[in-house]
Amino acid sequence: MSTATLETSTIQRPRAVERLVAGQATSDGAGVKLTRVLTQPLQRRLDPFLMLDAFGSDNPGDYIAGFPDHPHRGFETVTYMIAGRMRHRDSAGHEGLLTNGGVQWMTAGRGVIHSELPEQEEGRMEGFQLWLNLAAQDKMIPAGYRDIPSDAIPGFTRDGVFAQVIAGESHGVAGAVQRARTEPLYLDLHFAPGARFEQPLDPALNAFVYVYRGGLRIGETAVPPQRMAILANTAGSDGVVLQAGGEPTRALLIAGRPLNEPIAQYGPFVMNTREQLMQAVEDYQNGSLAGAGL
Ligand code: MN
Repeated sequence: MSTATLETSTIQRPRAVERLVAGQATSDGAGVKLTRVLTQPLQRRLDPFLMLDAFGSDNPGDYIAGFPDHPHRGFETVTYMIAGRMRHRDSAGHEGLLTNGGVQWMTAGRGVIHSELPEQEEGRMEGFQLWLNLAAQDKMIPAGYRDIPSDAIPGFTRDGVFAQVIAGESHGVAGAVQRARTEPLYLDLHFAPGARFEQPLDPALNAFVYVYRGGLRIGETAVPPQRMAILANTAGSDGVVLQAGGEPTRALLIAGRPLNEPIAQYGPFVMNTREQLMQAVEDYQNGSLAGAGL
């Protein structure tokens, strides 16, 4: 964790909540139970974000099977582990152990085959996986990978709120990851009861909040736990004000600049056209998706 001089910000014209979303209970990988919060029908509305999965269970049967070898192409996956241990291995030779509070930022680019497997047989496993799209011109860049342990994520405390800045910038603190094209902001916010947090946001950015403990009020809207609040892109708005209720609250605030490009998805591949998807499937089947040596 690092600290920085804090500047004062006052939001004059805050965004309202456009819609609350409960997500869909589903399972993925070899049978991991999770809630898909950001589902495919919301990809256009929340461009450049393609998916948000929330997982959290004390029951090993819900997570033990993990995600054995599978491919990706055309976007980035951001896994944020609140609790638990997950082992990552990929076709580019990267290996890492994702543990409590750590982030794994993987750029699939032209292709990667990886596994994400629990390294625990009991106890709690909790976290999130966000998919961030790549611009058309960047979809075939080489695969990349970063492990960011909890103590390397910049953070600050302000008015009863502890903020971890995974990506972007907040109150003068630069996050662990920056992306020029989509300008992703990814904050994990821990509120003391009754605390309030303000974040300036360009109205052109698509933005949402996911409350995973406690509850927030955003303008006139109460946001209960396990709900995503999509924030309206109101012209002339200058940010968002998050007000915690009477209990400790934790929430993600995520925003990004839309790419406004066609989105074509087939499972773990997200490209711009159907032809590119067919090419991805063919490359996977013939062993060239993730480059030579596989
Ligand atoms: Mn994966």
